[in-house]
Amino acid sequence: MKTQNTFFIKFTVYFLIISVLTALFCVFVCGSMKNGTSDVFEDDPKTADKMLTVVIDAGHGGEDGGASSAAGLYEKDVNLDISMMLYDMFTANGVNVVMTRTDDRLLYNRNIDFKGRKKMLDLAARLSIAEKTPDSIFLSIHMNAFTDPRYDGLQVWYSPNNEESEKIAKLIQDGAKILQSENNRKIKKAGSNIYLLHRSDSPSVLVECGFLSNPAEAEKLENREYRRQIAFVIFNSVMEYLTPGES
Ligand SMILES: [Zn+2]
Repeated sequence: MKTQNTFFIKFTVYFLIISVLTALFCVFVCGSMKNGTSDVFEDDPKTADKMLTVVIDAGHGGEDGGASSAAGLYEKDVNLDISMMLYDMFTANGVNVVMTRTDDRLLYNRNIDFKGRKKMLDLAARLSIAEKTPDSIFLSIHMNAFTDPRYDGLQVWYSPNNEESEKIAKLIQDGAKILQSENNRKIKKAGSNIYLLHRSDSPSVLVECGFLSNPAEAEKLENREYRRQIAFVIFNSVMEYLTPGES
């Protein structure tokens, strides 16, 4: 952990330096381009096509706790915490963010008795937020669980409907190696059992950040600093996709 922490501190410092230099570059160069040659800047496909909005979806919430650890850590809470960290990281770097939830609840109308359909309505509401956000990437944050407690490690699922999904998933899965050097998991294409990815037409991925059924990984996920490292891996990988060659 100590070497990982040192690595992350260095990594964060380098990233901040690069961000500041990029910002200064934009202020001086883009500012001077406003006098007559701004169309050159707008036609640059890298900047024109890729500055998107990121829709961050903290999985589960309210009466739906999602998976849980033996010690009583609920997936919904870890999902929300990591999602809020991602919100801070993206917005601090000038990326637009839309959150599907920012507190502990499922997304359905409480004035109507929907009985067993709450979960379905919740997922439909999340999909609708993604669909109403033009030029967006959909990033769903979850924790995993399995009957066999041996399994651990971050794993990314991607939507089959948009070819960009697989690229983003690959970047995040590769990025996870920084934190989990023995993670050899492969990205997986979502089937109809992952409703949001199956239905979404925008570039969409679901990150299973770790297994709450694995006691060692669940203990790490109790730690906010570890959560921040997970968030940073995801953030950094998405930035690599949004601004290739800059991060
Ligand atoms: Zn989940």
